[in-house]
Amino acid sequence: IVSKSYLVSKLYSSVYVINILTYIIITENPCIIAMSSFMSLPLYPITIKNKWMIQQTVITNIPKKTQTSRTSSLIATSSTKPINVTRVKLQQNQTPNYVTRAALAEVAIPVETSTSELEKMRKGGFWFRKWHMMDVTHLCLGIAKHVLAACAPFVFKPGAVFVAAILSIITGIGVTLGYHRLLTHRSFKLPKWLEYFFTYCGCHAGQRDPIFWVSVHKNHHKYTDAERDPHSPHEGFWFSHIGWFHYNEYLALKCGEPGIGEYSNVPELKAQWFYRFLHDTYVWHTIALGALLYMLGGFPYLAWGMGVRTVLVNHVTFVVGSVCHLWGDRPWNTPDTSTNNGFMAMLTFGEGWHNNHHAFPTSARHGLEWWQLDVT
Ligand SMILES: [Zn+2]
Ligand SMILES: [Zn+2]
Repeated sequence: IVSKSYLVSKLYSSVYVINILTYIIITENPCIIAMSSFMSLPLYPITIKNKWMIQQTVITNIPKKTQTSRTSSLIATSSTKPINVTRVKLQQNQTPNYVTRAALAEVAIPVETSTSELEKMRKGGFWFRKWHMMDVTHLCLGIAKHVLAACAPFVFKPGAVFVAAILSIITGIGVTLGYHRLLTHRSFKLPKWLEYFFTYCGCHAGQRDPIFWVSVHKNHHKYTDAERDPHSPHEGFWFSHIGWFHYNEYLALKCGEPGIGEYSNVPELKAQWFYRFLHDTYVWHTIALGALLYMLGGFPYLAWGMGVRTVLVNHVTFVVGSVCHLWGDRPWNTPDTSTNNGFMAMLTFGEGWHNNHHAFPTSARHGLEWWQLDVT
């Protein structure tokens, strides 16, 4: 069911984008372009009733008992309930083990999807399948980023490198602090405006919007290394690293979603207009930033600020799902393959202490020892 207000929100997004593009065409002043990007923002609450709100209204009509459990799931925003773990001696468990019985036992498989359906999709392979428009869009953006990054050494400019470095830190922290530790695990509290600030920074990292990111990551903690884990190295290194990002239909089926784009495990985010707005428009924010960088410093700024920067930040974030489930130490006997990897922790602003994180998902600090550097 698509409501009128949902269509209005889509129309709003289009008008918003046309507004930005018009300013880019008629003026060369980057300040005016930046202002125009934010000008229409306060109008967005007009369109708050989109398709997800309709679903919530339907849910309200169900018996009281279930209502209570729904309310509590709204409050308990993290699906990563604490698990009992004990510290193990390093020698006992240095090689990452594969799916343990404990991990499988914890997984409650939703009834909607049968294992044979998943098996069928897996057998279909990654490349030769029906490609959803969403996957095609992100594959094209991914290729564009890598092409820009490959051009960057030929248009080297110290200013462009500096801008890329600053943006890497801002958007990287946006993901680790905003998307991950704040929105997914609620491991600390921030005033709403500061929460929106950090998540907006994360939105420019090229890893899509908070609703998508948080939904996938909650499922990663729920089904870690089991068949329904969105990105487990059991399905191959490259799939766990970047392949999953471009196969939304498979992700939805795996995680028991009714369809692509439902994200039923993040009702608390879907209830906020700001996150719905980012969900509808995140691609255009990225393009607007690219246009702004181009206006400021020409092609070198674009190649370094949007190419090298996003390629670095994306791969560095994605190694947490691939490398940090394959190589490293396991000081905690969690029922999965998560590892602590000091080198990756340095690159990922502390996210590389991934075994610590799976052992204590709601801890704001991932580096638990004094020597475990955790920049975030
Ligand atoms: Zn993990
Ligand atoms: Zn996490």
